[in-house]
Amino acid sequence: MSAVVIRGREVADQVLDEVAARVRGRLEAGWRRPHLAVVLVGHNPASETYVRGKHRDAERVGVASSDHRLPETARTADVLTLVRELNSKPEVSGILVQQPLPAQIDLAAVVEAVDPNRDVDGFHPVNAGRLLLGQPGLRPCTPSGVLRMLDFAGIELAGRRAVVIGRSNIVGKPVALMLLQRHATVTVCHSQTVGLEEISRQADVLVAALGRPQFVKPDMVRPGAVVIDVGVTPMEGKVRGDVDPGVAEVAGWVTPVPGGVGLMTRAMLMANTLAAEETRTS
Ligand code: NAP
Repeated sequence: MSAVVIRGREVADQVLDEVAARVRGRLEAGWRRPHLAVVLVGHNPASETYVRGKHRDAERVGVASSDHRLPETARTADVLTLVRELNSKPEVSGILVQQPLPAQIDLAAVVEAVDPNRDVDGFHPVNAGRLLLGQPGLRPCTPSGVLRMLDFAGIELAGRRAVVIGRSNIVGKPVALMLLQRHATVTVCHSQTVGLEEISRQADVLVAALGRPQFVKPDMVRPGAVVIDVGVTPMEGKVRGDVDPGVAEVAGWVTPVPGGVGLMTRAMLMANTLAAEETRTS
């Protein structure tokens, strides 16, 4: 038996179409066009590609977008000045500081400088706290995308066992909190976990977010489980996920890499930009 493939394109298109419809509705009602401001420091080729993709998505859904560039040699104070300037502009709905930042920049200070209500990455400590407390707020895009894929596939979460491999602040921890909020019983594994294979075999929903290509093998998966592959590792000109292709023979549902969670991350950024504008103007 082969697993059902939850395709990111289909789910992301649904999200982007919803955002586009809501943006159109708001414009017709006389509201301002949502606007995503992207801060780019230096010239990281991968970041340039990601940012081009973000602008394309913005154009598709009718969101305005702008780049705000600083040189590779910028200091933390320069980035903070730029972020504060963007915070003060009423037309800016969302601010995204593209990572990685050059090594001399204090990332935590920059993340904290972003107005939490414009923090479309959902990385600000205020938004992390809101997520922990179960309060409304901007959620990180990749974990939101994972939840959206599970919902699209009609996966019931309440009472199910979920296992998350990875505990980073941008994926593992927030996705675990979101699954908990949806009443799953959640276990988080990491590099020091003992008996990980045994734990992962108990999962009804397994989220692999560790960045180790094809780490999750078929014998680590319960037959019929939902396996979400967040991993993206460039290898020999291709990208590899954290899940071995053989898992599709055991699992009930899988997500592909590429063409899975990555597309959702982009789509949820647009959803967050609209949500930030809606919250600020409501
Ligand atoms: P990260 O910050 O490097 O965190 C990796 C996590 O995995 C850590 O918690 C680490 O444990 C754990 N880990 C590493 N090796 C392990 C092992 N052998 N067994 C168990 N746990 C292990 O990475 P990240 O930023 O969360 O990203 C994870 C992956 O998702 C990467 O491939 C990244 O490229 C990808 N990603 C994809 C998207 C997307 O849109 N598709 C978005 C973000 C990230 P410790 O905490 O103990 O070190």
